[in-house]
Amino acid sequence: MQADILTLIKERGIVLGDGGYLIELERRGYVDSGSKREKVGTGRGSGQFTPEVAIEHPDALRQLHLEFMRAGSQVLQALTFFGTREKLKRAGYDADTEVINQNAVRIARAAAAGEALVAGSISRTQLFEREGRGAATFVRELLAEQTRLLTEAGVDFLILETFFHLEEMLIALECARESGLPLIATMSFRPRLDQSSDGHSPAECAREMAAAGAHLVGANCEQEPKRMLAVLREMRAAVDVPLAAQPAAFRSTDETPCFTRLPQFPDELETIQASREEFSDFGRIAKAEGVGYVGGCCGCNAAYIRALASMIVGD
Ligand SMILES: [Zn+2]
Repeated sequence: MQADILTLIKERGIVLGDGGYLIELERRGYVDSGSKREKVGTGRGSGQFTPEVAIEHPDALRQLHLEFMRAGSQVLQALTFFGTREKLKRAGYDADTEVINQNAVRIARAAAAGEALVAGSISRTQLFEREGRGAATFVRELLAEQTRLLTEAGVDFLILETFFHLEEMLIALECARESGLPLIATMSFRPRLDQSSDGHSPAECAREMAAAGAHLVGANCEQEPKRMLAVLREMRAAVDVPLAAQPAAFRSTDETPCFTRLPQFPDELETIQASREEFSDFGRIAKAEGVGYVGGCCGCNAAYIRALASMIVGD
C-alpha cells in the first residue's frame, strides 16, 4: 500500500509526476488535434484534444504510461483531461463519458502496478472562454459529474489543471472538495503571465486556491520551465502550502508567453520544442526552491521526465 501523495511529499520533499499525454498521443496518431477545425462537432473523431483514446486505443495509452513509469514517474495521471461530458460531446463521445473516465483510471492503475500513485485529471470545460461567466451553473454540474466519476473509479488524488479563469478553478475546487481526496490545483496563464484570464495575479490565484482547499497550488502548461519560474516564485511568496509545477516543453515568447497562442500551435510545434536539458535545469531549481510536485505538460515525453528524474529522484 502506497502512502498518500501528501505524506510522500512530506517524506521526500519532492515528488515526480509524469508528462503530457494528449500532444504526445496526437503525434503518435491516436488523438485528434482539431486542426481541421471545419470538422469539429460533425461527428466522432473530430474533437480537439479530447481523451477518447482511453476507449479507442487503450494500448497506445497504456504504452505511454509505461514509458513514464520507466522514466521514473511516481504518479501517473489518468488521461481524463477534457473529459467532461460537454467537451466530449463536441467530439461525438458524450454517451461514453462514464466509460472514458473509468477506462482511463483503470489503464493508469494497471500501468502503475502498485509502484506509482494514480491521479485523476480535471481541467477547464472551455465554457468560460466560449460563453462567459453565465455558464457557471452548467460548469459546476459538469465538473461535479467528472469528480464523482473519478472518485468512484478509485483515483488516489485529483489534479485540477489548465484553468485560465480563477472563477472556474474555484468551482472545480468546490466540487473536488466533496471527494475528500488530496487536491493539487494549478492555473495556466494565458495570454499574460502576470494575471489569469479573469484578471487575478499569480499570488491572488495561489491564495484563493489554497483558501478553497487545495493542498498544493501552482501552474501548469503554456510556458517553458524558465518562464514559468517567475509565476511560481510569486506564488511561493503568497502561500504556505507546497507548490506544484508542470511546465510545457514549448518555447513561448516575451510578446506571447503561451504556446497555444503562437501560430505554431498545433501543427508546427516541433519548431518550438524545448530541450530536455531545460527540464533538468528546472528540476534542480525546483528542488532547491522547495517545490513539492514536479512533472511536465504538453510537449513532454518520457525523455523530459527522465531529465527531471535525474535531478530530483533518488538522493
Ligand atoms: Zn499542457
